[in-house]
Amino acid sequence: MLGAGQLGRMFAVAARQAGYRVAVFGGGPDSPCGQVSDFCFDKSFADSAALEEFAAVVDVVSYEYENIPLDAVKFLEQRVPVYPDSNLLQTAQHRLLEKRAMRSIGIPTADFVAVNSAEDLQAGLSEFGGEGILKTATLGYDGKGQQRLDSSCDVQQVYASFNGVELILESIVPFELELSIVACGFADGTRKFFTPSVNHHVNHILDCSVAPAAQLSTEVVQRAEQIAAAILDHFQVIGVLCVEFFMTADQQLLVNEIAPRPHNSGHLTIESTAASQFEQQFRAVSGLPSGNVRPLRPAVMLNLLGDHLEHATADAWREVFGLEDVHVHMYGKQEARRGRKMGHLTVLDDVLENAEKRARQARRILGWTGE
Ligand code: AMP
Repeated sequence: MLGAGQLGRMFAVAARQAGYRVAVFGGGPDSPCGQVSDFCFDKSFADSAALEEFAAVVDVVSYEYENIPLDAVKFLEQRVPVYPDSNLLQTAQHRLLEKRAMRSIGIPTADFVAVNSAEDLQAGLSEFGGEGILKTATLGYDGKGQQRLDSSCDVQQVYASFNGVELILESIVPFELELSIVACGFADGTRKFFTPSVNHHVNHILDCSVAPAAQLSTEVVQRAEQIAAAILDHFQVIGVLCVEFFMTADQQLLVNEIAPRPHNSGHLTIESTAASQFEQQFRAVSGLPSGNVRPLRPAVMLNLLGDHLEHATADAWREVFGLEDVHVHMYGKQEARRGRKMGHLTVLDDVLENAEKRARQARRILGWTGE
């Protein structure tokens, strides 16, 4: 596993349950993934001797976030299978490559222009009616590296504030909701799709995911699956992939971004689905058949950020553990910071409103007053 965060952790728990041994690269024994792995390589991705050593002890490599340096992945790929492969990873790392790839296979996205100068930015804004969202082409996540612009902005100043990095300007999509689908491709050609989640963000960070969501018609779910299938086929993906969409008022789907790995919006599959997204990941990358992605119960996932836990006491946690069908996941991070993902809650209920109420009640019990 490349990357030692919570997605690596949940992967390692699933893989070790099935008897695999897990080696993690990029974090020590006390990292979220290192705590539950068999071997840790607490080394830099630029350290080719360490990558060589890592490649020698593993049979197959996957990763848990898309900003793993591409050179490291290509280096490993020469020595051991890496899934999903570096071609998809490279595309997912770069918003322009990603959007161009989507358009090349007929998948709708927001309109966009590449921005390499203040003049490009001015031209793009004019094209999009004076407003847009400016994003760094690489290394952005959770709303970092992006800025919403309107016609009152000082184009020269905004451009200069990004220090000359490669940028993309997107038109603003007037979306009704955001949804995502986790899909998996297997070596034998099988494709599987989890039930899509509807996602709510607060301050650009995912707050809550719900599946199955009443707002999604059968046609929309089918369309999400078709688009995910087209991406799996185009890139011949082996492994897990998440596609994030905007849905407009007339039920059109536009791809916002793709993540070649399990996704925060799929964490609820650990309890809600026969096989979770992490079980699918170890199955797909190790050449096993697919698990069963049949949903068992409706679920809500609520993230626990550092902010939510500032006032949490041991008694409050006791109370939360006493709530019905509330599953607590904590990632073992030593330091809680505002906006940092520390854990999540998955709440199951046949009535989704009740699940969401209990999830928010749990966060209030933990001392969060912002609900
Ligand atoms: P991203 O980092 O691209 O996932 O963007 C973070 C969030 O910003 C998204 O989940 C949306 O809520 C919002 N957003 C990003 N791009 C657009 C867009 N082109 N139009 C409208 N909202 C957007």
